[in-house]
Amino acid sequence: MVQNEGYSHVSTGDLLRKEITEESELGKRVKDIMEKGDLVDDHTVLQLLTKNCNLQENSYIFDGFPRNFEQAKLLEENVLNGSKTYAIYFHIDLEVLITRLINRRTCKDCGAIFNLLTKPPLKNGTCDICGGVNLDQRKDDNEESVRNRLDVFKSTMCPMLELYEGMGILKKVDASANPGEVTKEINSILE
Ligand code: AMP
Repeated sequence: MVQNEGYSHVSTGDLLRKEITEESELGKRVKDIMEKGDLVDDHTVLQLLTKNCNLQENSYIFDGFPRNFEQAKLLEENVLNGSKTYAIYFHIDLEVLITRLINRRTCKDCGAIFNLLTKPPLKNGTCDICGGVNLDQRKDDNEESVRNRLDVFKSTMCPMLELYEGMGILKKVDASANPGEVTKEINSILE
């Protein structure tokens, strides 16, 4: 969980990967599903999210959640209780996204994210931030899993986007812009 501009950033993917690293029961259950790029079941994800959040005290940016209409409903009914919310949809050409994902590398020690094409580490294989030498490719960032993740995304996103559009809280951000511009866009929505 990362604190930023008064919001805590919570990625359900990160929470699930932590369970896998810790070899918990939940982690063992979801490992193969995640490596293939399929979705973990809605109740497991919601449980993990609520366990890691304190909505009474903090404001959150949920990253990768909700992923489908059912999760959006569960979120509304069980977690948000009418809190002020925006849904931010990052749109980008899918082939550009695939190239980005396949070239992503993450530092296993501090979590810093690099990209071999657009943001390579200054020294090959070494993290610029912490100096660690564990720059790793996520198990699901191979082309087959990435393409499956995008197929899953295409099959689950539309009803959820319609829901948020109907509620008047859907904001769209062009994710093909550079990271600075994307951050500016997000901040202007959150202000
Ligand atoms: P991400 O880190 O958001 O790319 O998610 C990586 C993987 O974690 C996904 O492909 C799913 O297998 C799983 N995952 C993350 N968030 C969710 C979610 N909200 N619902 C179901 N599965 C999820």
